[in-house]
Amino acid sequence: MILFREPDLLLDDTKLSPVSRAQNRVGICTACDGDLLSLGYYKQAGRWLVAARCSACSRALLMVYGDDWSWIEDVPLVMAEGEGHAPARASLRVSEVPQERLEVVFTPAEIRDMIAFQEGRPYVRQNLYRARAKLDRFERLFGIRIEL
Ligand SMILES: [Zn+2]
Repeated sequence: MILFREPDLLLDDTKLSPVSRAQNRVGICTACDGDLLSLGYYKQAGRWLVAARCSACSRALLMVYGDDWSWIEDVPLVMAEGEGHAPARASLRVSEVPQERLEVVFTPAEIRDMIAFQEGRPYVRQNLYRARAKLDRFERLFGIRIEL
């Protein structure tokens, strides 16, 4: 899963800073036919990566090109903008965090058991331990501390 946190790309734990932040019309959204606007251009391992977002439906994607700008693939991009720069916030309950973000770091079983634990329902202890071990990584990526 690749994250966009203005203006950087986060690939696993690697932060990639943009070569350019030019806003260009870079294509048409396959979901709604709106204009895709670039958020940033990145270079990695001989490939060009272009983060883009639809100006109509806000769907984000990362377009991957070869060194010669031949198109390779489009991959999903998760937006995490803003929060990285926000002042420290109080911790959130698991149920208050958007599912899409939880899924970047936690497995479905871990998410289910974190929520079960907070709601006082039965849970698998091992899943909760594993989830707790990932809280720091989640906070680093999204700037959100999950209360667990
Ligand atoms: Zn769209």
